[in-house]
Amino acid sequence: MKFVPYSQQSIDQNDIRSISEMMLSDFLTTGPIVDQFEREFSNYCGCEYAVAVSSGTAALHSALFAANIGPGDEVIVSPMTFSSTVNIIVFCGASPVFCDVHEDTLLIDCFQAEKHITSKTKAIIAIDYAGHPCDYDCLNSLSKQYGLVLISDACHSLGAKYKNKQVGSLADITAFSFHPAKSITTGEGGMISTNNPVYFERAKLFRNHGIDTDYKQRLTNKSWEYDICELGYNYRLTDIQCSLGISQLRKLDQFIVKRQTISSEYDKILSGLKVFTPLSKENCDLHANHLYVVKSTVRDAAFYMFRQNNIGVNVHYCPVHLFSFYRKNFGTQDGMCPIAEQAYQQILSLPIFPDMTENDMSRVVEILMMYN
Ligand SMILES: *Cc1c(COP(=O)(O)O)cnc(C)c1O
Repeated sequence: MKFVPYSQQSIDQNDIRSISEMMLSDFLTTGPIVDQFEREFSNYCGCEYAVAVSSGTAALHSALFAANIGPGDEVIVSPMTFSSTVNIIVFCGASPVFCDVHEDTLLIDCFQAEKHITSKTKAIIAIDYAGHPCDYDCLNSLSKQYGLVLISDACHSLGAKYKNKQVGSLADITAFSFHPAKSITTGEGGMISTNNPVYFERAKLFRNHGIDTDYKQRLTNKSWEYDICELGYNYRLTDIQCSLGISQLRKLDQFIVKRQTISSEYDKILSGLKVFTPLSKENCDLHANHLYVVKSTVRDAAFYMFRQNNIGVNVHYCPVHLFSFYRKNFGTQDGMCPIAEQAYQQILSLPIFPDMTENDMSRVVEILMMYN
C-alpha cells in the first residue's frame, strides 16, 4: 500500500515549465525573478515589503535581526512549535521565555504572555499553529502597550485570514516557510513581510553578508566598492526557486480550498466519534489548514496503527522547552507550560494536502473508525 504522508507538495506542468524557462536566463540567483516573487508575494499579503530568503528558519532569523534582538534580550514564545522558532532566539544571543497556549487551539495565550513581560522583554513571537491565525488584536495592543516587536511565525498560515486581513500584514514582521510540507513550496525557501522600511533594509543586509549595496547598484554606480555595515549570512533564495514560488503562489488559493474540503470532511466524520476531537477553529476567518490536529485519549495506539498501515500521521510538536538543550541551557522544566505539555500527550496530525485522494481519505477514516 502506498505511503500517505501527513503533508506533501503539489507540483504540476506549469511549475516545471516556469523553472525550465528561467534556467536559460542570465541569472540563476540575485536576478529579476527574485524581485518579481517578492513583489507578487507582498501584493498577495497586502504589505509594503517582502524579502525572499533560503528557508523559514532564515526568515525567522532575519526577522529577529531586523528587530535588533540581541544578547540580554528576552523573547516570549509559545513552546507548541517547530524547534527552529526558538533556536533562532538563541542564535541571536537572546533568551526564550516560554508562554503557555490555549487548550482548544494551542495558540499563544495573550493574557499569559503579559505575565511574562519584564524590563528585558523585546519581542513576542506568535505561531499560527496548524494554520489558525493567533489573536492579533490582543497581541498587537499588548506589544504597543509595552513597546515590544510582534513577530509572526506564519510558517503554517500562508493564505489564512484574520478579521478579513491576510496573514503577512498582521504583525510588525511575519516569517514564512516554503518547505514542501507548507502551503506552497520552493523546495527549501522562506520570506519575510513587513510594512516597516527599516526592518526591510536590515533583512536585506542580513541576507547578503551585511553588504550595503547589491551588484546592480554597483553596476549603476560604475564602482566595485562596498561596505560591510552589519554581520550577515548568505540567506539568498535562487531565481530558480523564486520562479517555482511565483508559479505556486498563483495556485495558493486553490490549494487552501482543497485543504478546506478535506478538513470539513474530517470534521464531519469526527463529529460522530468519541475518542478523537479536532482542535477548535472558532474565531478563524480563514484557516490555512496546514495541519489537521486531533486530540485523542488513544493517541499512542492510534499512531502505531496508522503507521502500520503506511499512513504518515505525526505529532506536532513536542513542546520545545522539554528538549534537553533548553533544559541544560535555560533551566526549563516539566510543568512550565502545563496546557502545552498535556496536549502533547494527546495530539496527532492526520494527513492533509491538496493532492490527497478519496482513496487516501478512506484509508485514514477506516482506521479512525476502529476506535469508535
Ligand atoms: C517549517 C517551520 C519552520 C522552519 O521552516 P524551514 O523552512 O523548515 O526552515 C519554523 N516554524 C514553523 C512553525 C514551521 O512549521
